[in-house]
Amino acid sequence: MNRNVRGLRWGTPVAAASAAVVATMVLNPTPGASGAPQSTAKAKAPTAKNVIFINGDGMGAAAREAARLHLAGLQGRLTMDRLPVSGQLTTTPDDPKAVVTDSAAAATAWATGEKTYNGAISVDTHGNPLPTLGAQAKAAGKATGLVTTAQVTDASPAAFFANTADRGKQDEIARQYLDVSKPDVILGGGEDWWLPAGTAGAFPDKPAEDTSEGSRGTKGNLIAKARRSGYRYVTNAKDLDKATGGKVLGLFGNEEMFQQRPEGQGDVYAPAVDLATMTSKALKTLDKNKKGFFLMVEEEGVDEFAHSNNGTRVLQSMQQLEKAVAVARAYQATHPDTLLVVTGDHETGGLAVEENDTGDESGTGVSAEDGPFTIHGSDRTFTIDWTTSGHSSVDVPVTAAGPLASRFTGKHANTYVHDVLSQVLAPRR
Ligand SMILES: [Zn+2]
Repeated sequence: MNRNVRGLRWGTPVAAASAAVVATMVLNPTPGASGAPQSTAKAKAPTAKNVIFINGDGMGAAAREAARLHLAGLQGRLTMDRLPVSGQLTTTPDDPKAVVTDSAAAATAWATGEKTYNGAISVDTHGNPLPTLGAQAKAAGKATGLVTTAQVTDASPAAFFANTADRGKQDEIARQYLDVSKPDVILGGGEDWWLPAGTAGAFPDKPAEDTSEGSRGTKGNLIAKARRSGYRYVTNAKDLDKATGGKVLGLFGNEEMFQQRPEGQGDVYAPAVDLATMTSKALKTLDKNKKGFFLMVEEEGVDEFAHSNNGTRVLQSMQQLEKAVAVARAYQATHPDTLLVVTGDHETGGLAVEENDTGDESGTGVSAEDGPFTIHGSDRTFTIDWTTSGHSSVDVPVTAAGPLASRFTGKHANTYVHDVLSQVLAPRR
């Protein structure tokens, strides 16, 4: 992983990043975020040209806390929590049948500023398509990209770059990526939706680890179509690293880039290309656009493994997300005209961080307590407990750095993300 960071123009990773972070906060104070006098702040504050939006799917405050203890220690801090600005978002959808959101309605709120029903991809409650930030950024001449460990056509990235009444129509979403919104960088899983049945592609159908996987697209061979429209197509880390040019399509699995299962039931988190490496490559590619860029990054493992109440894999997914955040933070630190936002679309599992006390066991089977998990730099341990295998409606933290970051202080509805990002990506003429 470090090779990538060193590969980029920004020098050795952590030391340079922290020095630059301090420099940036001085040079680019978010009013109030660093205490620099307003006048100098106003004069020097760069305007935002780039946006890096990071979604820990299913990541509530408790998942952050569990990761903080496990990865940073009792008094440690995660990179995502060291961003200068923090706030919280409510996630309620506009759905007659649901109080708790799914990823589609949540991402639609971010990408369009509109509340809608669960399962909707950037359409309103009547099914009418809504303008998306990804398409608007493209129209403003910016480069755009999405990186995820889910299918690249899954709900969270899809809402920024497509419009469908049903999140399940992932082949239609892929077609819209090529024909309508044209994101320049597309990296993640989901090959199954780009190829018709019978055309296995780079990842064989019905693999042993999940025999339900297999090519199932109904829009023809979209990989061939992507290549014809100028995308460099890759299927592994080596070719991704070598890929040149401004348009890259990387599909690194049939569906998600992991196998979401309860502990010991075939659960695997080993993406063919890790999230930080995909994020680095996307930044390197999009950075070339002088008008700036919009990059959406997602770690899907937090949500999927929380659905399986699998604490071990949730922590593993959080660790990978943290590494990707560190790459984005290092970029933001040396590119002060970049707004970096880290949040979650909703909380999953009703995750709780508890003392080790088998006496208060509240669940059975998969929802039984997990752990004990180690605390970084300590011989102490903690337990993770669950209240549901679904999503919950608790607020999600949002942390941010860069121009406009201070807008995220306080508590807001998730549509507010659109209000802030659109100032950079869809500037009113
Ligand atoms: Zn979920």
